[in-house]
Amino acid sequence: MKIRNHRLIKDDDNSVAFIPSPNIGGVIQPKFLIIHYTAGSSAEGAISWFQNRASKVSAHLVIARDGTITQMVAFNRLAQHAGVSQWGSLTSLNRYTIGIELDNAGKLIQSGGKWVSPLTRRSYAESEVTIANHKNDPAGTPPSGWHAYTEAQIEATLAASLALVKAYGLTDVLGHEDIAPGRKTDPGPDFPMASVRSRLLGRGGDQSEHFQTTADLNVRSGAGTEFSLLPGSPLPVGTEVEVLQRNGVWWQVDVVGSANGVMDIVGWCHSRHLVAK
Ligand SMILES: [Zn+2]
Repeated sequence: MKIRNHRLIKDDDNSVAFIPSPNIGGVIQPKFLIIHYTAGSSAEGAISWFQNRASKVSAHLVIARDGTITQMVAFNRLAQHAGVSQWGSLTSLNRYTIGIELDNAGKLIQSGGKWVSPLTRRSYAESEVTIANHKNDPAGTPPSGWHAYTEAQIEATLAASLALVKAYGLTDVLGHEDIAPGRKTDPGPDFPMASVRSRLLGRGGDQSEHFQTTADLNVRSGAGTEFSLLPGSPLPVGTEVEVLQRNGVWWQVDVVGSANGVMDIVGWCHSRHLVAK
């Protein structure tokens, strides 16, 4: 796939279907990609919602469960997908991002022995459900059901995203859950974010880097001092960490082994007191 005139072009040189949303803003220079789930029951439903002026929402792309991609906003125009959001010092991320919505029911609840969407009441077979905790869940939260993405959707997301990263020089791929963590849980634990990021950006996964702390270092739940300290914080001097991602001076780290008796710490640190190991 490639980008021409801010439209997504398939390998057969035809553009993907373009169904315009009226819910757009001015010209943007995208920096990041934001991945979402629709929390609905069909791609058609999401597309008609984004066509409806009253919804006030939109996305650049909608990807159906069979991998069919529909574009609704040109990539150099603002789409209304992120809402109130923050990443590092940037706020209102619609101004800096391309939004991709995947047709997926999202978080599911148990009702009458079935996994059901609390929004649409539709039920889903066990084979379509991943049972997991969300990365933003407070410790001790029981796991939930999450509607599984299809292989075709993930492949289509990767193909479109590779073209977008190349055409616009995008520097990161994030979930809505990363830029609006108290409010949003999409794309959720079934989306293979680590491998998608590694394939799109050539880092993360096995190319991550090892550092160690040069001072007692606080670990927080997000990239900024406004986020809460995690158990095990502060990390003692000499603690080895693996850097998972960077957001300006704030780095997300995975603590190797344990710190202060706490295992499996993953959180955000100021990079000032980290040196390469
Ligand atoms: Zn979202």
